[in-house]
Amino acid sequence: MDKRIDGLLDKYPAAVFKNRKQHLAEIMEGEPTTISANTRTIPGIITNRGCCYAGCKGVVLGPLRDAVVLTHGPIGCGYYTWGTRRNKGKSEPGEKNFLSYCFSTDLQEGDIVFGGEKKLRRAIEDIMDIFSPSTIFICSTCPVGLIGDDIHAVARWAKETWGITCVAFSCEGYKGVSQSGGHHIANNGLITHVIGTGDKAVGKYAINLLGEYNIGGDSFEIERLLKGIGYDIVSVMTGNGTVEAMASAHKAQLNLVQCHRSINYIGEMMKEKYGTDWLKVNFIGVRSTIKSLRMWQNTLAIRN
Ligand code: SF4
Repeated sequence: MDKRIDGLLDKYPAAVFKNRKQHLAEIMEGEPTTISANTRTIPGIITNRGCCYAGCKGVVLGPLRDAVVLTHGPIGCGYYTWGTRRNKGKSEPGEKNFLSYCFSTDLQEGDIVFGGEKKLRRAIEDIMDIFSPSTIFICSTCPVGLIGDDIHAVARWAKETWGITCVAFSCEGYKGVSQSGGHHIANNGLITHVIGTGDKAVGKYAINLLGEYNIGGDSFEIERLLKGIGYDIVSVMTGNGTVEAMASAHKAQLNLVQCHRSINYIGEMMKEKYGTDWLKVNFIGVRSTIKSLRMWQNTLAIRN
């Protein structure tokens, strides 16, 4: 038997172990330990990577301060994409900030059998009564996809009833190979329903930061630096960001793309739709930051 898994057989249920044996290893003294990581997510089984829902709700939508991101599903899905995230967000005085709340419909067995739409509508009514947000994003989880609740109809109902921005994301965990599918679903929803709906006046050197999620607070420092130099940061997608600012993102002159993998195609889409140029940047470390600043200042100087 493979030495890596010898001794682990008794500790895990057979079904889990069969699917996960390449991801488990006992650390042997003096021997290198390797595990397999690049494999498809299996919903409901502790996994070696994020699911599609985690990419949509946890990574892209979760950091937006002024949006209530409502998980339609079991409480565990909501909890683990909230309590384990390290995105920070500072609000301006008078602004709402929902980052410290975990919103979930907490689906139970009865809802799975008889349908969960009623519970979703009730949750939205409660949210409007208690928090009165201007934006609600609904994210669906594996069980919701399986029972077929129409979250998009509920989003339309909320929009008509309260006149708020309400968008549903069909980001069930089992969709796609990993959380990357969820990034796409979230970004596509934002470009369709949010970007282009605002009309905020922007300054002379107006930029967006794309793919910057303010993990541990890095965006605070990047924003401080760029504002100090004289750039007007119209919006950040999505760390320490707001839906309100993102609505006017189309008015910026340049998109700076930090996390290439999760969002470069949005740079392309905005180039096509609004003519906004985009550049890949890297703010990790002083040298990379200097290189990025020198690279794009020429671009903006030409356009102004
Ligand atoms: S959405 Fe599915 S895969 Fe993702 S955490 Fe919930 S049950 Fe697990």
